[in-house]
Amino acid sequence: MNENIHNLLVWYQSNHRQLPWRETSNPYFIWLSEIILQQTRVDQGIPYYIRFTEKYPSVFHLASANQQEVFKLWQGLGYYNRASNMLKAAKEIVAVYQGEFPKDINLLKKLPGIGPYTAAAIASLAYNLPHGVVDGNVYRVLSRVYGISTPINSGGAHQQFLKLAEELMSTHSPALFNQAVMELGALICKPQNPDCTNCPLQSGCFAYSQNQQGNFPVKAPKAKQQTLYLTYFVISVIKNQTPHLQLNQRKKTGIWANLFDFPSFETKQPLDMDEAIHNAIEKKWLPTDSFHIKHVSNEYKHLLTHRILLARFISIEIENNLSSHLIKSLLLIKHTSLLEYPVPVLVDKYLRDVQLIRQ
Ligand code: SF4
Repeated sequence: MNENIHNLLVWYQSNHRQLPWRETSNPYFIWLSEIILQQTRVDQGIPYYIRFTEKYPSVFHLASANQQEVFKLWQGLGYYNRASNMLKAAKEIVAVYQGEFPKDINLLKKLPGIGPYTAAAIASLAYNLPHGVVDGNVYRVLSRVYGISTPINSGGAHQQFLKLAEELMSTHSPALFNQAVMELGALICKPQNPDCTNCPLQSGCFAYSQNQQGNFPVKAPKAKQQTLYLTYFVISVIKNQTPHLQLNQRKKTGIWANLFDFPSFETKQPLDMDEAIHNAIEKKWLPTDSFHIKHVSNEYKHLLTHRILLARFISIEIENNLSSHLIKSLLLIKHTSLLEYPVPVLVDKYLRDVQLIRQ
């Protein structure tokens, strides 16, 4: 197999994609790229990487940013806890490590938002330390080459693949090995129609020899995705003759942590209109009269790993200046200030559709 690994590294050096984070061994840039690329495609992640590195060229710049501006730059990537942890980690790296990323993988793993995968990526790609990086591409390549039938979403799989990767890299540069396997998975050993004819690992590949590429990697069946219905109330109030909106800042945990949206009901079944209005009056989001429904949106669909979200927006205008119906836990902002607030993609899409913010 060593000869195959040699072929793989040679292949990588002349065939890899030019990606901005490949041109550096600066741990800050590598860390940024790894956080951005979690649950994000490379082509989608590149502009975000460029924007972040331009606005925050060092960990010191990022550490002194505030959460709202970081979230605004992050908008569209989803999973905002990545951005919030990124900011916390930057602050800790500056405060505790004087701006130097630790080299010890165990210290890296203690930083907010840095799990075993990201820690191994920073340690190997920035410091060339012998830690395996096991992502979907690596699972696919190694399971096919070695005919490993352990389901990759089962308990011990990660440890098994990590051990194998670290054995294979032992006589090579860890940074080069990790990047080469991942790149082979992205460009040649793809999920569908792997390009075995041009693969540097072909001569030692179990799946190729048995014509079983489609049977690897093995996956255990997934739990069914749950559907959650969101009924949003976009409540307009006139204050000083100017239309204002009531905005909600979400809790510190869960999806969309700390982002802004509107008061909403989250239910397992769709709410019909009468029920939704009745519940909103009970919650005192609306007065018993003196309001009118301006618009009810179509359904907006948003897919998460374990959930399908179906959202509907009910736009309501409260007549007169009914300040008693301002909800104290909510922000009251001018329509024109909406752009300053980071919102979930689904809400952003609605706001653009109804032109509350410009396209
Ligand atoms: S020979 Fe085919 S299946 Fe085997 S590693 Fe290469 S591309 Fe993947």
